[in-house]
Amino acid sequence: MFYRVTIIATGQELLNGTTTDTNSAFMSSSFWGTNFRVINHVTVGDDYEELKTTLLYYLDKSDIVITTGGLGPTSDDNTVEVICEILGEGEKVHEKSHEKMVDRFNRMGRGTYPTDRKMVSVPESSLVLENEHGISPGFIVKSGEKIIASLPGVPSEMKVMFQDRFLPYLKKNFSFSEDLKLSYTVSGVTESEINRRILLMGLPESVSWGVSAKSSHSELTFLSDDVEFKYKSYIDERVRADFASELLHENYKSVEEEVVSLLEDRSLTIGSAESCTGGLIGKRITDIAGSSGVYLGSVIAYANNIKSELLSVDESTILTKGAVSEEVALMMARGVQKRLGCDVALSTTGVAGPGGGSAEKPVGTVYVGIIVGDDTEVHRFQLAGNRFHIRESTVTGIFNIVRKKLLELK
Ligand code: ATP
Ligand code: MG
Repeated sequence: MFYRVTIIATGQELLNGTTTDTNSAFMSSSFWGTNFRVINHVTVGDDYEELKTTLLYYLDKSDIVITTGGLGPTSDDNTVEVICEILGEGEKVHEKSHEKMVDRFNRMGRGTYPTDRKMVSVPESSLVLENEHGISPGFIVKSGEKIIASLPGVPSEMKVMFQDRFLPYLKKNFSFSEDLKLSYTVSGVTESEINRRILLMGLPESVSWGVSAKSSHSELTFLSDDVEFKYKSYIDERVRADFASELLHENYKSVEEEVVSLLEDRSLTIGSAESCTGGLIGKRITDIAGSSGVYLGSVIAYANNIKSELLSVDESTILTKGAVSEEVALMMARGVQKRLGCDVALSTTGVAGPGGGSAEKPVGTVYVGIIVGDDTEVHRFQLAGNRFHIRESTVTGIFNIVRKKLLELK
């Protein structure tokens, strides 16, 4: 059995764009891979009529509607009143929350206002969800076969209530199936190639899949539309076989994270000579906690004389072949390996644009040098996109090559 879930986030600040709705994302990611399918995210301002219309509309389309926000004491907090009107019932004060509130306010040396009772009021028929981290309780009410759950807006309060109170309620009162998804991270494969390979798997209609491209990798997910995920092991075997070395290990979120770990395992150090990437290799490696164990440093050799003076790149080669050339990339990698004494040396030289391109070397032409021990390689990348993308893709591309080489070293 699958249940359709709609999440309604309330608050004028969400519509104004001053607060980002993180609550819906949190709940959706918790439901992802279960038989509770989030079919809508809706945002409504602090408007009574709008909230009422929206709730009624989505209640009709869903089995479960969850609201967040609007449980507080102020006049723009409408959730309880709107739900009471929809259900045709009154409000009640939740005594335990009320006591907690009075106690807290007394300790703060502030009295209680008559309006504070609103903060601890819930619809009469509610099953109360206690708020461990705040005052306003959440609640669950039934509307025929359907349920409405209202949780606080404050993200820290909402998360604890969702995990510790609401999810256990669902698990107890509904048939709850988990592990209906498979997800993988792949790097160094285009989206069209991923698409082609997945189509070749010949998956049945009961499996839906998607690819989400990030700057350095793509996330690949498969979701079963059947509560029994019969094809799970078939898909897993196929993905592992078809993507082999392009599949990042599940423990790592990025290719650089895996590179750092592979270097650690093999007790190897790494350094780089960066021209067009201007330090981005160093930046992305040092973003990884623990990279100090493997990363020695980078020489950012942007100007030609720095390439020659610090990395011993032959001046005449720069003149005859150009700074963006296979030969210069190679000399930069050799130069930095000698200078830093690293086991793995990387270099980049390219045309990141928007100016500087030529017919022979258009914008997006990048040469990268890679030395792993005695093995030396230079690759030419022809990249698309703006300056930002070209630089990021260069670094991702070079890490992808290094990763494969390190895996081959065993
Ligand atoms: P309170 O008792 O504090 O009034 P509440 O349940 O009424 O709580 P809101 O007033 O709607 O909640 O929001 C409280 C805080 O939580 C605000 O700072 C608000 O910006 C933030 N917030 C509300 N909804 C969301 C959301 N969907 N995502 C992220 N932050 C949110
Ligand atoms: Mg409020």
